[in-house]
Amino acid sequence: MKITWDSGDSWFDRSYAVENSDGENIREFQDQPTLDELRKIERQHGEATERLDLWQSGLLCTSCNTEINDRFAATTKGDLCCWDCAMDRESTDQQGITINTDPTKSVMSESQLHKKSLCDHVINVATGCRHGCEFCYVPTTPAIDNRKEMLAEQANIDDPQADWGKYLLYRDDLPERLARVLKKRDPEARKQTRRGRGIVMLSSGTDCYQDRRTAQISRGVIIELIKHGIPVRVLTRSPAVARDVDLFQKAGERIAVGSSIPSFEAPLVRAIEPGAPSPMTRWGALDDLQQEGIPVYVSMSPTYPLMDEDDFHELLSYFRALGEIVVFHEPINPRGSNFQQCLEAVEKAGYDDVATEFRKMRDNHQYWVEYAIEQIRTVQRVATRFDGLEVHSWPDNQLIRTTSGQLRSRLRDMQQAVSPESFSGHTPEKSPAQSAIELKTGSTYD
Ligand code: SF4
Ligand SMILES: [Zn+2]
Repeated sequence: MKITWDSGDSWFDRSYAVENSDGENIREFQDQPTLDELRKIERQHGEATERLDLWQSGLLCTSCNTEINDRFAATTKGDLCCWDCAMDRESTDQQGITINTDPTKSVMSESQLHKKSLCDHVINVATGCRHGCEFCYVPTTPAIDNRKEMLAEQANIDDPQADWGKYLLYRDDLPERLARVLKKRDPEARKQTRRGRGIVMLSSGTDCYQDRRTAQISRGVIIELIKHGIPVRVLTRSPAVARDVDLFQKAGERIAVGSSIPSFEAPLVRAIEPGAPSPMTRWGALDDLQQEGIPVYVSMSPTYPLMDEDDFHELLSYFRALGEIVVFHEPINPRGSNFQQCLEAVEKAGYDDVATEFRKMRDNHQYWVEYAIEQIRTVQRVATRFDGLEVHSWPDNQLIRTTSGQLRSRLRDMQQAVSPESFSGHTPEKSPAQSAIELKTGSTYD
């Protein structure tokens, strides 16, 4: 699949066509197509793993008419622009979100998420996130905290943490850049840890299917990863992920697609994750995918205080209904200023009982320790009612440090376990299965 072009009266007066691999025209354009039109053709007319490469295809910057031969971006209307024009452009507002281009050079970064048995590398398709979850740790990380100047320049953001959820800077040319990087590098030479298994995750710092533009970038990125045989983990709260089922099918067991579903209590989830689709919609997308044979997982994180055995039974029943599934679990952690935002959000939504629990956790470390251990224990116990359901718990380092003796070593084993996902050929090395790590009711913190 490729773009061809002809010039008319002047050098920059061009008509375009998109050809399939047999050299037949799929679409013709009298004027230059938008980025959205090109990415749509790629998805609707190509083979699942085919991608239209936009570099050196005769496309022109709609502002200055120079050819797009390397980095590019697009306006909110989808008009392509060269890198210089993109960097000079003012941000625009779209439904209360400030939109612009992310100037980062980074393509794929090494990640510490192998500690949660999620991945060794992450690719973020944008900076910022429309969902604006109150507990989100991303704005406190260097990816945001060290880029205050850039965010002030590109999005007029004074306080990236307080304004989290109100800005989104896209990385439109990421598929083109990743293709060049992977061509040069031996995929096997990448870091591959025991728990991360060389997996590349989209995305840890944003939601990679939060809107059409991020979904288009994500599709291009996943195509490139699959073509190079790299295992991929997709994590999103957006049901739009189901649109790429054709692509995921091509990846076979080298992909896992998951969503965060901490609770089915929609008003509570809406208070804490104000911009994200409802938990049942997320479940519905996973259901659609698993029915098409795609390996799916759920991140039951972060779970809230006052959730009891019945709540977890209901959640795990729904997850079990998704067939072969891995569930990751983590209780909420009262660290950082974002916890205060969670507290205020639940209070505003009228969840005074949850707010009271949050306050107790914030003010009394031991109270949090007891809550977190009790929740991990409850979830593991409830999981045993569902034959073969694996819950991979994430006990926090703080939690482990606070405990001692047998409990400490059980929590440590849980933390060191490899998630029971195969990623085809990346079968986990023998490590203690989480379900075998029994946390007996009534045991003391010895
Ligand atoms: S969806 Fe993920 S990245 Fe986006 S705000 Fe929520 S937790 Fe943060
Ligand atoms: Zn230009």
